[in-house]
Amino acid sequence: MNDRAETPAAAATAPAAASKRLVAIVGPPNSGKSTLFNRLTGLRQKVANFPGVTVEHRVGRAHLHGHHDVDLVDLPGIYSMRPRSEDERVTHDVLHGEMPGLRRPDAVMLVVDSTNLSRHLPLAASILSLGLPTLVLLNMADDLAQRGGEVDAEKLALQLGTPVALISAAKGEGLGAVTRFLGGGIALPRPVELPVLQDVPQCRQWARQISSGADYLTPAPSAWTRRLDGLFLHPVWGPLVFILVVGAVFQSIFSWARPMMEAIEEFVAWSGGWLTSQLPDTLWRSLLVEGVWSGVGAVIVFLPQILLLFLFIVVLEDSGYLARAALIADRTMARVGLQGKSFIPLLSAYACAVPAIMATRTIESKRDRIATILIAPFMTCSARLPVYTLIIAAFIPEQPLLGGLFGTRAASMLGLYVLGFVAAVVTARLLKSSILKSERTPFVLEMPPYRRPNLRSVALRLWERALAFLQRAGTVILAVTIVLWCLASVPFVDGQPPPIEQSLAGTLGRAIEPLIEPLGFNWKIGIGLITSLAAREVIVGTLGTIYGMEAEGDPRGLQAALQQDLSFAGAVALLIFFAFAMQCMSTLAVVRRETGGWKWPAVQFVFMSGLAYVCALVTFQVLS
Ligand code: GDP
Repeated sequence: MNDRAETPAAAATAPAAASKRLVAIVGPPNSGKSTLFNRLTGLRQKVANFPGVTVEHRVGRAHLHGHHDVDLVDLPGIYSMRPRSEDERVTHDVLHGEMPGLRRPDAVMLVVDSTNLSRHLPLAASILSLGLPTLVLLNMADDLAQRGGEVDAEKLALQLGTPVALISAAKGEGLGAVTRFLGGGIALPRPVELPVLQDVPQCRQWARQISSGADYLTPAPSAWTRRLDGLFLHPVWGPLVFILVVGAVFQSIFSWARPMMEAIEEFVAWSGGWLTSQLPDTLWRSLLVEGVWSGVGAVIVFLPQILLLFLFIVVLEDSGYLARAALIADRTMARVGLQGKSFIPLLSAYACAVPAIMATRTIESKRDRIATILIAPFMTCSARLPVYTLIIAAFIPEQPLLGGLFGTRAASMLGLYVLGFVAAVVTARLLKSSILKSERTPFVLEMPPYRRPNLRSVALRLWERALAFLQRAGTVILAVTIVLWCLASVPFVDGQPPPIEQSLAGTLGRAIEPLIEPLGFNWKIGIGLITSLAAREVIVGTLGTIYGMEAEGDPRGLQAALQQDLSFAGAVALLIFFAFAMQCMSTLAVVRRETGGWKWPAVQFVFMSGLAYVCALVTFQVLS
């Protein structure tokens, strides 16, 4: 037992007035922790990282009617407290008050899925043994009742020696108990007999015993779950549905996001013009309008598209379909020598490689984990979308395919996704049959029941993504844009900025031109390639700035400007280059952190960039 138990004892008698009471939310994955956390904190929350580890957690503040505010920390999902994986170690350390930068929580709310008590309740043993004031929340009460399950919370509370409440975090039902626990004088658990903690079978046995003591009636899988599984996991229909879903997602990203994107584009152009008319003609105006505004504006235009992609991923995940898709994909994963557990990280890599690489922590086999990390950036992340969209819209004429069901542009986009996927598969095969060879582990993943996604939690997660994207646009992209504008404005000629071709940026771009000319790129694209080493989408802003400066007052859009400068073959080569190249500082940094050294990020950078160069070269030479 931990020797710092005085904190909760003090909190139990006198509600902390100066510093807020800190309550940890713990529980297995998918038990509804985040849903509860979001409901209690709303937008008063932020994502944070513990020092030295990659595990994220969220902290937020709950306003309670008639009580003091309470600080909440939402910890990563765990099944046990044996510090095996990093998630488990973090939760273990936080709850023992051994996590630097976070004081020991005063109390714990353990959230478990009431429809799955046999698998979720064993965790209660190790949480209760901490001796902290604990509230056990049996979540998903609505689902339990609907599927004919039952449980007596009072009886369970008697056996656990701590309060238990049956709630529905998604519907906001039964939350009175949560408010009372958070706001009221909280009591330490009554000592009860707990199983030997490291003994897994004994914990399971204990959980079974106390759930039957609480008249637990296991719910039947709903008729819907059985029917849907019959379709989604069917050997023939399953993969077909999978392909249809993926195709539909990409098609709609293109058609639905259009009006919103055009509106933002118009607004950026209009406001840029307005700024120009309002400000005196100085260097500052040029920096503001042609540098910052057109650079950042060119990237913000893609916000609707990125949000739409995240919307689909979140909804598919929350509805329960994503786990089925993982099972469908497992057979394919086996063929490249990877396991089913690699599928979820790889799928999240379609949004962004950074969280994807962090998600590989669940893969126990070190070699499989490294292989997954190495191939994740081949997946088409959302930062590539702005680049793809711009080039496809400028160079691929829209024509109906398959009788209007599909368009040529959507098809090109899908083709690029497939290309990244194929590169990942081939690389995985290479790695797994050579330097990262290992035994195959069987696929074990819990199939969650199908659920209607909760609007509130979907909206909150989208809000989080939007903020993250805007922060990037506001920091990395803004900084690169300003540096670029400066490089493009010196050396002064007769006290005036030079034509961009003679500027420092132009000189740099032309210095690498011999290297990229065989790929069909000119020096302007060259500047973009340099700046996009920071992050892929930066190239769009850079081109926005370069052409904005060069055109000066010329209303031709960026697309039209590109059409003048890039041949069709060069455009395709550029797409191929972006599909393969490793242009993302954040990803490299995270790979270094996760693999504990510079070796793997270096291998990854050299391999991906080399592949990108060679493939773009071949493409351009063949097409032209
Ligand atoms: P976490 O992994 O523990 O943070 O779980 P989430 O909060 O992400 O919830 C997992 C899924 O369960 C989401 O699809 C939620 O919408 C859903 N969910 C959460 N609470 C409830 C509930 O009380 N009832 C039902 N039916 N679904 C819920």
